[in-house]
Amino acid sequence: MSVVAFLAACSTNAITGRKQLSLFPESTLQQEALTQYQTFLSQNKVVNQNTSKDAEMVRRVGTRIAQAITSFYAQKGQSSELDGYKWEFNLVDNKEVNAWCMPGGKVVVYTGLLAVTQNEAALAVVLGHEITHAVAHHGNERMSQGALAQGLEIVGNIATSNNPKYNTLFNNVFAPTAQIGVLLPNSRNQEYEADHFGLIFSAMSGYNPREAIPFWQRMAAAGGKSGTPEFLATHPSDENRIAKLQSYMDEALSYYKPVSTK
Ligand SMILES: [Zn+2]
Repeated sequence: MSVVAFLAACSTNAITGRKQLSLFPESTLQQEALTQYQTFLSQNKVVNQNTSKDAEMVRRVGTRIAQAITSFYAQKGQSSELDGYKWEFNLVDNKEVNAWCMPGGKVVVYTGLLAVTQNEAALAVVLGHEITHAVAHHGNERMSQGALAQGLEIVGNIATSNNPKYNTLFNNVFAPTAQIGVLLPNSRNQEYEADHFGLIFSAMSGYNPREAIPFWQRMAAAGGKSGTPEFLATHPSDENRIAKLQSYMDEALSYYKPVSTK
């Protein structure tokens, strides 16, 4: 790839200002994500939002965070970052400690996570974090880095979802189902960005961002008990993360307006 083409493939992260490699059209990723999401939901036990308080809570918290992000981008004149987003929030009956958001706003929370979040504000911390990964195009960046690592020649014809190399890359980054072997982890930069803006978005949604600290401590303890939860494998809860979260706290609290409900 020429230098000019390489620069053209870089985009500026709308919330952090960081330059990111971005080789894939967002619309392509969203289309693939939608297919994978529907397949995942059809193969897993989705908890009914009309009869389950937990599933209703997942939708409520997720919707608030999506609204906060929508107004955050609108105030910055960057609403186009959310083009194509059609938010969906589902709880699946699965004891894994996990949650994720795919491009286009397709969110899943596993019931196993709720035992660790324990309260709505901590769930908001996790959803704020996962949703930030999606809206900040972190998956596109990781797929692009993976494409470069595999050789530039596949980039030119990769942006079709029936290309097997593309599918492998997509699955290695988003891994919506457990059968996929290799998971390309988030970079440390991406993790800090997701923690930083996840806190801000949960505070804007009316949830106390201070709950992030005891949540990550509970997550670390959960890792000690029964093997490493999938979420913890890609999100190490260590002193570095806690210290960074503390350093974002004053800024996040400046956005915090408590909601009247619990
Ligand atoms: Zn993360």
